Amino acid sequence: MNTTETPFESWGIIKNTKRPVVIAGPCSAETEEQVLTTARGLKEQGIEIFRAGIWKPRTRPNSFEGVGSEGLTWLKRVKAETGLLTSTEVANFKHVYEALRAGVDILWIGARTSANPFAMQEIADALQGVDVPVLIKNPVNPDVELWVGAVERIMGAGIKRVGVIHRGFSSFEKTRFRNVPQWQMAIEFRRRMPGLPMICDPSHISGCTELLQEVSQKALDLNYDGLIIESHCNPKEAWSDAKQQLTPEDLGKLLKSLVLRNVELDQAQKETLDDLRLKIDKFDEDLLKILGERMKVAEAIGQYKKEHNITILQPSRWDEIISRIVEKGAKHNLSEEFISTVFKAIHQESINKQTVIMNNN
Ligand code: PEP
Ligand code: MN
Repeated sequence: MNTTETPFESWGIIKNTKRPVVIAGPCSAETEEQVLTTARGLKEQGIEIFRAGIWKPRTRPNSFEGVGSEGLTWLKRVKAETGLLTSTEVANFKHVYEALRAGVDILWIGARTSANPFAMQEIADALQGVDVPVLIKNPVNPDVELWVGAVERIMGAGIKRVGVIHRGFSSFEKTRFRNVPQWQMAIEFRRRMPGLPMICDPSHISGCTELLQEVSQKALDLNYDGLIIESHCNPKEAWSDAKQQLTPEDLGKLLKSLVLRNVELDQAQKETLDDLRLKIDKFDEDLLKILGERMKVAEAIGQYKKEHNITILQPSRWDEIISRIVEKGAKHNLSEEFISTVFKAIHQESINKQTVIMNNN
């Protein structure tokens, strides 16, 4: 295994800070026994940081909203008995005060909270002058600015040990993920705020155990520093997020199956990749040229439609294009999903261009 060091090293509380740093534990603390049994199981799997939600932000009312402050004493017991570091979610100043008073080692801020600047500021104010590590999840909506802003508020409170968690984004469309990863958002975040530890939350991205391995591996391939994964001693009976939780044992198996690929390249690898990337660059240029030419034709059509008073959108024409192109795409080994996304975007741009022409006198 590759043993690349992570920025968690500078936090000074985690013993093994090599990639991937793993945080694991149940979605929610339910009972003292469930918390301790899970923690003991995780300890056996070599996990060093325990997670458990005490206050749960649930989408619908009348579902289990966490055990509240009582659960903090269970986290204290986890730490005393197993030596695991503890972490929990905070969403307002009361949570911050209580978690700090109970000696929770790492606080995390959930996706519904990081989407809310008022809540973020309240938490930041409660953290003024405190020296505790904080992990900030991406907001539920794919808005990098909002994520950066949430991190800036926490840093503005003087918190030095700040990291981020990529947990995917809500979408109206049904996808195979519970929260669509949109990996490019995390890559963009990293470009905007380099150097912060970034971990992936495959549990909330996947929403089911079947996708955990694929998402975790992808995160490692994208050079994430760690993973936060939900684990429960009896997943089927979990009071929240039952479908996505693994037993500590299964989590251990999953972690063993992950491959840590090299981040640094040697000279020969670099040359091979540079060579292939040059080819890609050339194709990208060709694509741009062709797209530009295609748009010119779309504009000519727009001009014609204007002169003959024809509507821009003719649905039958669009249906015909998309089914023809999807069929042709398959012959080039291009998936229907990819082809329809690309061509919808191209079509939209044609419409935009034609709209400008229509409205120009
Ligand atoms: C959680 O980690 O249990 C949680 C509520 O996650 P999120 O804020 O990502 O929905
Ligand atoms: Mn959860």
